[in-house]
Amino acid sequence: MSDCLFCKIVSKEIEADVVHESSEVLAFRDINPAAPTHVLVIPKRHLSSATDLGDADGDLLVELFQTMASLAVTEGLGAGHRIVTNVGEHGGQTVPHLHFHVVGGRPMAWPPG
Ligand code: AMP
Ligand code: ZN
Repeated sequence: MSDCLFCKIVSKEIEADVVHESSEVLAFRDINPAAPTHVLVIPKRHLSSATDLGDADGDLLVELFQTMASLAVTEGLGAGHRIVTNVGEHGGQTVPHLHFHVVGGRPMAWPPG
């Protein structure tokens, strides 16, 4: 999608601090980190949110979660971390391209606001 911020990061039209890249998945640091580690993990293909995932996306989902598991190791999140995907207005989604927040490096509160 030509007007999508994260598609522009995928195409390198907009710069980001990339920590992992494959043919299907990109991971980069959040520009406004909510914790000492805050990485966004996205499919390169444009999907608006988790509700866009379909029957053919099984391999993609596995790669996304394996990427997050590897990042937890390389980012030193041995004490635990949180994975969040916001969906739509009430979910607090501000960028309409599916992304998983990986946050850690401090204890997380629950429930979220
Ligand atoms: P969400 O509110 O769940 O849609 O998350 C969007 C996230 O994207 C927020 O945490 C923003 O700080 C982050 N963000 C927005 N623009 C950029 C950017 N150019 N590079 C990296 N992260 C960004
Ligand atoms: Zn997009």
